[in-house]
Amino acid sequence: MRVDWSGIKLVIFDVDGTLYDQWPLRLDMARALVADSVQQRSLDTIRILSTFRKVRESLGNARSPGVSGEQYRRTARDRGCSEAHVRTIVERWIEQEPLSRLRRRRTPGACELFAALRKKGRTIAAWSDYPVESKLSKLELTADIAVCSSDPAVNRFKPDPAGLQLILDRTATSPHQAIVVGDRFDRDWEAARSISVPTLIRSFRSNDRSPTFRDFRDHVFAPILTESGHA
Ligand SMILES: [Mg+2]
Repeated sequence: MRVDWSGIKLVIFDVDGTLYDQWPLRLDMARALVADSVQQRSLDTIRILSTFRKVRESLGNARSPGVSGEQYRRTARDRGCSEAHVRTIVERWIEQEPLSRLRRRRTPGACELFAALRKKGRTIAAWSDYPVESKLSKLELTADIAVCSSDPAVNRFKPDPAGLQLILDRTATSPHQAIVVGDRFDRDWEAARSISVPTLIRSFRSNDRSPTFRDFRDHVFAPILTESGHA
């Protein structure tokens, strides 16, 4: 499947798993967590993080509102600890610790694609269920607009399209003039499909639902990347 870039004004990137390779980073983090747990002689942190991820997935699946507070409340309840404790663990292990490890996991071709999109007058957006700005800065990438699902104006995880709709509204772009570049069919593709925004999904396999790509050097980006490309 090809992408007709000529009518696309706005490119909306998912962050985790799209702008960097998520599994190598998860492995890096798992090693650091195990080392910490051995030192602490406690599995408390690993258990809280595991529950936190499950809670977020289920809030996303249920399309629940108010996720920014609910994710901490439910994790604290399920683990029998305070919300403040969950926040401390999440802040360190999900928001801070991965940052220094991000740059070397950046998806090949990301910097070149962002530069080429800019040169060809496209608006670049980033949309994630996790905080966006600190990650983009560590990845040495800049977006014109960044939206996190925990922002008060959204407060719903993917596949709810609220964050995507907010980006379309703020940039005064109609769905067919935008494209979502993500890595999950059950989140990015599903959200985009529900409001008729085209997609490009990062995957090693082709798929009937959407064009796919392995990294940003893929031929699907050629019209943007080549000087003479019609895009
Ligand atoms: Mg992702």
